[in-house]
Amino acid sequence: MKNKNRPSVHSFVVGFILVALAVIDWHDQSTTTPPTSVTQSAPRGPLNVRKEIHDTWLTSLDQLSARSGDPELLEIRDFVRSHAVLAEPIPGDVRLLSTAPKQDPWFSFVPMIETDETLGDPWQAFATQPFMGSYVPYQRVMIVKDFLIAPLWRGLVFAHEGWHAKRHLTGQTQKNGDWQHCLEEVGAHSFENRVARSIGGTPYAEYIRQELKRIDAELTRVNATIQQAFPNPPTVYDFRLDQAFGQALSDTDRENRIFNASVDAMFQYIDMNWRIPHNEKHGQKAAILCTMYRKNGIL
Ligand SMILES: [Zn+2]
Repeated sequence: MKNKNRPSVHSFVVGFILVALAVIDWHDQSTTTPPTSVTQSAPRGPLNVRKEIHDTWLTSLDQLSARSGDPELLEIRDFVRSHAVLAEPIPGDVRLLSTAPKQDPWFSFVPMIETDETLGDPWQAFATQPFMGSYVPYQRVMIVKDFLIAPLWRGLVFAHEGWHAKRHLTGQTQKNGDWQHCLEEVGAHSFENRVARSIGGTPYAEYIRQELKRIDAELTRVNATIQQAFPNPPTVYDFRLDQAFGQALSDTDRENRIFNASVDAMFQYIDMNWRIPHNEKHGQKAAILCTMYRKNGIL
């Protein structure tokens, strides 16, 4: 069931980038990240485990969609449901575990489990990278890992990757490259931020207000613009993120929320404080994201 029209996964092993401390997105440079645990696979057949992970992710996306009602999110949910084909990793490639839709553009959905690290690269490399989800455009593969993560946040991670998949498969993404990647991420995060606000209620709004104050105070302290000195995300997890999105179930879950909320606050800060045209704001946000990625060894 190999798609012969695509280059092998192996040839694309260098095409990854870490995002938000735990989410990988596409890119054209290799990254080095410390090893981390990957999955909590039960002692069952891998096919059943992959199917369970696949179903869990889709259920989370459904829950998020029902809670949010955001029209674009609903489109992405429908796109993912009708275009994702369950697949498993094999050495240097993927193998479909269910029938591909007759119509393109479909993509392979690969839930990774612990034993996949024995399949050699690129799977061994992926296994050591602490991402929750990743969409790889050239391979048309979305890879997800079964980290312990609360359902609504898992749905949000899935929605973010689904946004990339839909953009790519409907021909809306630009050529690859650092700068283009950062511009694309502004779109993905803007969408994700909006959905987060739609379900986060008062606790999330208060958390962001506090973040905006913190950013302002920090910039005043160092006498710099946000582009010159965007403050690092908080190091302490705030319980309001639990109130907003359900109790976090792991450090990965918590770190990802902190980072993404920090991006939301940064975007809002620029929108509220900078009197420049919209397209220039998009570029400024991309520039800061690039800086944040570089700080975290992502670019
Ligand atoms: Zn992304």
